[in-house]
Amino acid sequence: LPEQEAFDIEYWLLEEAKLQRMPKPKSLAGRVALVTGGAGGIGQAVARQLLAEGACVMLTDIDGAALEEARQSLLKVAGKDNVAAAQGDITSEAQVEALLAATSLRFGGLDILVSNAGIASAAPLEDTTLEIWNRNQNILVTGYFLVSRGAFRLMKQQKIGGSMVFVASKNGLVASAGASAYCTAKAAEIHLARCIALEGAAVGVRVNVVNPDAVIRGSRIWDGKWKEERAASNKIETDDIEEFYRQRSMLKLSVLPEDIAEAVYFLASDKSGKSTGNVLNVDAGNAAAFTR
Ligand code: NAD
Repeated sequence: LPEQEAFDIEYWLLEEAKLQRMPKPKSLAGRVALVTGGAGGIGQAVARQLLAEGACVMLTDIDGAALEEARQSLLKVAGKDNVAAAQGDITSEAQVEALLAATSLRFGGLDILVSNAGIASAAPLEDTTLEIWNRNQNILVTGYFLVSRGAFRLMKQQKIGGSMVFVASKNGLVASAGASAYCTAKAAEIHLARCIALEGAAVGVRVNVVNPDAVIRGSRIWDGKWKEERAASNKIETDDIEEFYRQRSMLKLSVLPEDIAEAVYFLASDKSGKSTGNVLNVDAGNAAAFTR
């Protein structure tokens, strides 16, 4: 090569190498996120991922003690300027309104809602009391409605839109034995997301859904009765439950809270800017086919 050309190439290669070494700007820097069910396994993993991508996160949960533990653990990875927590019940209209006002006041707005709070309470149809039925509807449908309505109003007011992600369930698409109250509520959650997506399109608000299947490690849902009920309904020992779900899946993999967090992050961020009203199953293939 002529001397000047060789010099130019070396110069640009050095510049390129410098750029590679420079810290990349965080994709959610300046964004404010609210995560419901933030004391739980999936909620905490989601909060950790959003914080790592530069967002400010408000965590909320009905369980005040567990929420404080979650906040303390997140403070180890993010500064106190970026993470806050407020206890609340998503089925209470007044508490939801107060929570949204507190989020906006603390961080100056709301760009991302991760509606994730939930329970697992179910029984075979004949044993499903009105109390069990209403509990599922109140938390998983009415609660999601109240939080997303408040978030929608805030996002619309800001005039820069926003992104909502609902953590529903594979069971909102596929029926599961002995869990009609839960499955029906999760199906309603998914449809609520589609309805809000339709109204949100006009004001820049996207709404998508992540459907986990059997996230056993880290989840408080799987700590007690639910594990025993699912084990009994599948005729296996409670200790074998994770292996049972892994073997049943198409990919032969266990789904972890971090897997759900990755999907939530994708849908919350601009990386999915052309997706709304969509459902992403993170289920190792379980919704697509029966494997046994
Ligand atoms: P988790 O129990 O660890 O977390 C859920 C959190 O929601 C809990 O901390 C609980 O206190 C909170 N919560 C319950 N009711 C509330 C209310 N009224 N107001 C505010 N907070 C409330 O469970 P998880 O596994 O992290 O579940 C998160 C979401 O994922 C739930 O919506 C659940 O239905 C869904 N999901 C979980 C699985 C799984 O196998 N873990 C599978 C499919 C879907």
